[in-house]
Formats: sequence, structure tokens, C-alpha cells
Amino acid sequence: MADNLTLDIVTPHGHVFTDEVHEIVAPGSEGEFGVLPDHVPFLTTLKIGMLTYKKGTETGIFFISSGYAEVGPDKVTILADSAEKSDHIDVERAKAAMKRAEERLKQKEDIDEARATAALERAITRIHVAEKR
Ligand code: ATP
Repeated sequence: MADNLTLDIVTPHGHVFTDEVHEIVAPGSEGEFGVLPDHVPFLTTLKIGMLTYKKGTETGIFFISSGYAEVGPDKVTILADSAEKSDHIDVERAKAAMKRAEERLKQKEDIDEARATAALERAITRIHVAEKR
């Protein structure tokens, strides 16, 4: 029986995090899910949101954009388009991205609405996650 989980967070930009933790809560596409050691293995997609882990009394908080999670009894691998620890989020950059996306969405014509909406959601979520640091 496993006491710990290895949490690995990987993005195309590089390896973001690895550590032994006790509990993980992640933003699944079908809703938030929690993982403790010895969880039944599963694979799921992730949406833009906040991932948290607990390691003893320590809590870690990450922004995660969409991707995949592979859950095993003693390991959770997060493959996300982007991921930042809450205290590594550049809030001014996120505010600028939010403003850009809002301006784009106001134009209505000749824009990729889904792309602008996703950019807006990433920016708003980053600002929210940064407030949790
Ligand atoms: P921007 O328009 O500011 O680039 P974005 O949402 O399009 O924002 P992403 O495509 O999600 O950015 O990420 C590109 C890279 O930049 C990733 O490595 C991501 O971790 C990093 N990144 C994006 N925004 C921030 C931020 N506000 N703070 C820290 N890192 C960021």
C-alpha cells in the first residue's frame, strides 16, 4: 500500500514540478477530482483551472491549462499545455493578456472567438490562482 504519490507536472515548455505528496486535487474536464495514494488508475483530460497538492502541512498551488492527467496508485502525471506555481505567475502579464482578449472579443468580426475565449479564461484563472499564493 502506497503512503505517498509522486506528482509530476510536465509541459511542452519543460518539466515544471516533481515531488512526493499526500493528496492532489486537479481540474478535470468533467469536474474537479481528488487523488489519494492507492487510487484506481485512470486517464482524464484537464481543463483550465487550479491544481493543489498537500504534503504534510504544506499546500502547493498551480495554474494548469488544458491537458491530460494519468493517475496510478503511487503516481500522478500531469501533461498540461502550460503550468505555473502560484507564486511564479506574472500578474501584470495575465492582466495584459486579459485586456487583449477582452478587446478582441469586443471586435466580434474576423476573430477566432474560441481562441480569444480560451485566452481570456487562462488570464482570469491565472489572476485568481495568483491571489491564492
Ligand atoms: P500570454 O498571452 O501572456 O503569452 P498565454 O495564456 O497565451 O498568455 P500560454 O500559451 O498559456 O500563455 O503560455 C506560454 C508560456 O508562458 C508558458 O510557459 C506559460 O507558463 C508562460 N506564461 C504565460 N502567462 C504567464 C504568466 N502570467 N505568468 C507566468 N508565466 C506565464
